[in-house]
Amino acid sequence: MNGRSGLEASVRDLAAALENERGARQCRREIAVQDFETLKDAGFPLCAVPTAHGGYWEDSARSTRAVCELLRTLAHGDSSLALVCAMHPAVLSFWLASPEAPAPFTAAWDAQQREVFGLARDGAWWGTITSEPGSGGDVLNTRAVAVPVRGAGEYRITGPKHFGSGSGVVSYMLTTGRVPGDAEPDWFFVDMRGACSGGIPGLTLTSEWDGQGMKATQSHAFTFTDYPATRFAWSGNLMGIAKGCGGIVACCFAAVIVGIVETAIATARRQLAGRHGQMRAFEQVEWASVEMEGWLIVQAYEGMLRAIEDAGAGTPLGVRCGKVAIAGLAESALSRICKILGGGTYARHSPFGHWYEDVRALGFLRPPWGLAYDALFQASWA
Ligand SMILES: Cc1cc2nc3c(=O)[nH]c(=O)nc-3n(C[C@H](O)[C@H](O)[C@H](O)COP(=O)(O)OP(=O)(O)OC[C@H]3O[C@@H](n4cnc5c(N)ncnc54)[C@H](O)[C@@H]3O)c2cc1C
Repeated sequence: MNGRSGLEASVRDLAAALENERGARQCRREIAVQDFETLKDAGFPLCAVPTAHGGYWEDSARSTRAVCELLRTLAHGDSSLALVCAMHPAVLSFWLASPEAPAPFTAAWDAQQREVFGLARDGAWWGTITSEPGSGGDVLNTRAVAVPVRGAGEYRITGPKHFGSGSGVVSYMLTTGRVPGDAEPDWFFVDMRGACSGGIPGLTLTSEWDGQGMKATQSHAFTFTDYPATRFAWSGNLMGIAKGCGGIVACCFAAVIVGIVETAIATARRQLAGRHGQMRAFEQVEWASVEMEGWLIVQAYEGMLRAIEDAGAGTPLGVRCGKVAIAGLAESALSRICKILGGGTYARHSPFGHWYEDVRALGFLRPPWGLAYDALFQASWA
């Protein structure tokens, strides 16, 4: 079996195999490079490459659900792997969601799409290192400076960046920079091959990821110093591009957390099966609440996908509501499960404390809490 259905089958098989390694995987801090080789062989990078460029992506309305289901399935096996994989379609959606650019950008945007999708088709993984310390996750607060060096969109970028999930396995990363004289920052991408090996001029690994959750995402911090960067060919359109793909990005991140919560609830139910008759009143109420929150999370996820399917593009209100709702409900459900199952969930050999920290990532992922609420409030009156 190959093609799209072969990819789905391979992802299911990999996730099932990873469940057997859960204990070791939840404690490790390094990416298992072999997972990315397996997924590359299965054709995962093609999930965010348009059919016209040899991939499986049709358009936002028809393909977002398929991509999210891959991520949800992967998260049943390994949270960190699923999150790093989510970055690939999330980043490529910056081009996918805006297939055509107006003049004078039309031809250059078309050429850049061919380049970017071609790299993915040839097996390159895409990620993002947009976040900057002190920016509050708001790209408009970008302070990194991007200076033009020669024609054709080539720049040199300088400044600290952090949270680069997938550092070391991801080939190219999206980022932002401020071009002197421009009113707003803009989108760029950088070549991050070999980023963790050292010795690349202008690229310094300043701190390794030490997250409480999503431990093996290698979301490292780097400082760029006159580091080569390619500007988006549809330049000067920072927020337009971000809004165009925001719905896809949020759905990809939510899908990962939905998969984790599903696995956590199923695992807890198995552990409680023999003793639910002895559960105390408090535990019974907490468990009933877990059932409700688990159900609501799946409804919210469905609602996000339907909002994209109806709107066809952009960041509909339903997506904004769903992402924030899932972030809160997932934290709540995992917290209740830990209380019901007892102090043992504090132990590193128990999966539940790891999952609790993993699901907390969603609230910080783009748009992080404060920005998400700002946007929700504003969208409510739009
Ligand atoms: C597990 C995980 C993986 C991630 N992976 C990636 C990734 O691959 N790529 C990526 O680019 N990012 C990634 N992120 C980062 C994420 O997208 C957000 O950018 C990040 O969490 C921003 O939030 P912060 O609280 O760290 O911001 P900080 O900049 O540290 O801000 C801290 C607090 O101060 C406030 N604040 C700070 N400065 C300002 C300001 N100027 N204006 C207003 N408020 C301000 C913020 O609202 C926030 O509450 C990841 C995050 C997590 C948790």
